[in-house]
Amino acid sequence: MRKEILRDNLDRVIWNIEQARVEVSEHHIVKLVAVGKYSDEESIKTLYELGQRAFGENQVQQLESRMKNLSSLPIEWQMIGNLQSNKINKLIELRPTLLQSLSSLKLAKALNKRLEEKEQTMSALLQINSANEESKSGVSSQEAIDIYQQIKEEFPNIKLKGVMSIGALSSDIKEVQKSFEITHSIYEKLQKDDATICSMGMSSDYELAIKCGSNLVRIGSKIFK
Ligand SMILES: *Cc1c(COP(=O)(O)O)cnc(C)c1O
Repeated sequence: MRKEILRDNLDRVIWNIEQARVEVSEHHIVKLVAVGKYSDEESIKTLYELGQRAFGENQVQQLESRMKNLSSLPIEWQMIGNLQSNKINKLIELRPTLLQSLSSLKLAKALNKRLEEKEQTMSALLQINSANEESKSGVSSQEAIDIYQQIKEEFPNIKLKGVMSIGALSSDIKEVQKSFEITHSIYEKLQKDDATICSMGMSSDYELAIKCGSNLVRIGSKIFK
């Protein structure tokens, strides 16, 4: 039965997170955000019944329909995918708990302008392209600290809470680890600027990400497939 499969998957992921996080420290708490993009609303509902509360979507349209259809559940919804500028207004209307994928100064400027007009704020993470991959969005690791501070100073309707990164797309574990370490060192430098979230790690690399200091993992296929 589907519910049994989801329960097993969730239990396994939680167990693995637990193993990895106590290796860092007993006080190192890691949040799990379940990514529903390969799945359906029924499975999200089942996962909610199993105790999962935070869910991420990578498209504004899908986020919207799921928030609507599951509005009876007090789910914490997060936007984790590329945000196109023509979807900014829609995202603001949806009031997600967190936008994880604030990927450029230009996007921050446009988002802040619309937030100001609507007298709203939005919590966000600065996305860092720490492996310098062309296929990925995000600011470069060299510019990340300056851009973070600039957003904080100039765009007050965006409440920056930390950083997000996707691990290097490589079969070489050392490359992946290096990309996590770069992101984590930027996160550490931003703690004086109130950064509290270091979002790194997906199905294929979340244990490594946690050992590199991640405190939020985004997991899709290992839970829903
Ligand atoms: C899809 C996605 C995930 C989850 O991916 P899995 O490998 O299935 O765990 C995490 N983060 C982002 C930004 C994604 O788009």
